[in-house]
Amino acid sequence: MNPELVENARQTMDLERRRLELQLSEEVEHPRVSHGAQTAAASEVSESQRGEQLRGREVQHLAFIEAALRRIEAGTFGVCRSCGKPIAPERLEAIPWANDCVECHAKNRR
Ligand SMILES: [Zn+2]
Repeated sequence: MNPELVENARQTMDLERRRLELQLSEEVEHPRVSHGAQTAAASEVSESQRGEQLRGREVQHLAFIEAALRRIEAGTFGVCRSCGKPIAPERLEAIPWANDCVECHAKNRR
């Protein structure tokens, strides 16, 4: 694994992790749904569900990043968790937190 690529990935994910953590902590203090107080109950429910879904994705994204950062520490970064082959550098540049190679990813999508 190219150390430069690993270092770039680490920096990218460090920033992304900080951004997500900030975003998630802001949502706790200022929930996105709070401005819906005067809207109808029905739309308030859907607003809150949307907020939950978005938050769920951010939490999941953060978990992916943290797992990838742990793989960097452990020296297993860039290895496909399904087949154990190295993940293509182009894929890691585009998605540093990718944990499967292009082939396995395509397989799992089906
Ligand atoms: Zn694979």
